[in-house]
Amino acid sequence: MTFPPNRPTILIVDDTPGNIQILAQALLRDYEVLVSTNGPAALELLQAGHRPDLILLDVMMPGMDGHEVCRRIKADPATWNLPIIFITARDAVEDQQFGFNLGAVDYITKPFEVPLVLARVGVHIRLQQKSARLEKLAMLDGLTDIPNRRALDDLLDRECGRAARDGTPLAVLMIDIDHFKAYNDHYGHGVGDDCLRRVAHTLGAELHRPGDFLARYGGEEFCIVLPHCDTAGATQIAENLRAAVAALAIPHAHSSAAVHISISVGLCSRAIGPEPDCGPALLAAADEALYCAKRQGRNQVVGGKADSVIV
Ligand SMILES: [Mg+2]
Repeated sequence: MTFPPNRPTILIVDDTPGNIQILAQALLRDYEVLVSTNGPAALELLQAGHRPDLILLDVMMPGMDGHEVCRRIKADPATWNLPIIFITARDAVEDQQFGFNLGAVDYITKPFEVPLVLARVGVHIRLQQKSARLEKLAMLDGLTDIPNRRALDDLLDRECGRAARDGTPLAVLMIDIDHFKAYNDHYGHGVGDDCLRRVAHTLGAELHRPGDFLARYGGEEFCIVLPHCDTAGATQIAENLRAAVAALAIPHAHSSAAVHISISVGLCSRAIGPEPDCGPALLAAADEALYCAKRQGRNQVVGGKADSVIV
């Protein structure tokens, strides 16, 4: 079954099929529903990549109880932020407190009233959606609408780990718009902002492989992460980017590098299997190559000679 992407998904974990049936029936009108009749099966669903927007978790189950399931979900970096509502017949204050301390967002006691369950689920789903939107906004650059520095740091960290595990190459490009301060000074900040947006859009449009990632690094600097990309590939992409920005033909009467807006690119790549924490070193090496490109007259690509060396 394929789920339409705009309906939130609720995972119900309960060892009593009757409970699952009542809950699922009530929830199916507004949500996609996944069910498990025991803790290990629920954890397996999550391990297989399912990411429900909310989990309704029975506390009393034979074998692994709901508290243990919750503990494991919260201990896994891939699932720790999934909201969990405990459903249980144990309504003593200490029991509820115990559940909240494990990281649950709410507590529903049995026998439950379906309209109240729906109301609570609705509240938590809306909260979840709002925080997901905020999280996304916090990762975007407001001016260019592309990922920001924080998003880059997160992604680079993940990609370095992946490249180290898989023994695959990884390349980083640092890009700087040539004489952008002079451009801003002479054409004004509004025109400068427009230029940043056009360059960002052009760089993004030149990246065709699914894992390629572009971020605004700050000011007039951009950074691109190219997984599965060796030096030759990265150099080709960098030259394509330089040509694409030149083809915009945005006049720049105060640049020593060209008569139009141009970019300098520094690149660094690791041939196979970098260390999992090599992100900062890759950035620093690409940045050094970028400075070299600037020193040599700008509007050019530098780096990529020492394929497996990080300075
Ligand atoms: Mg039970």
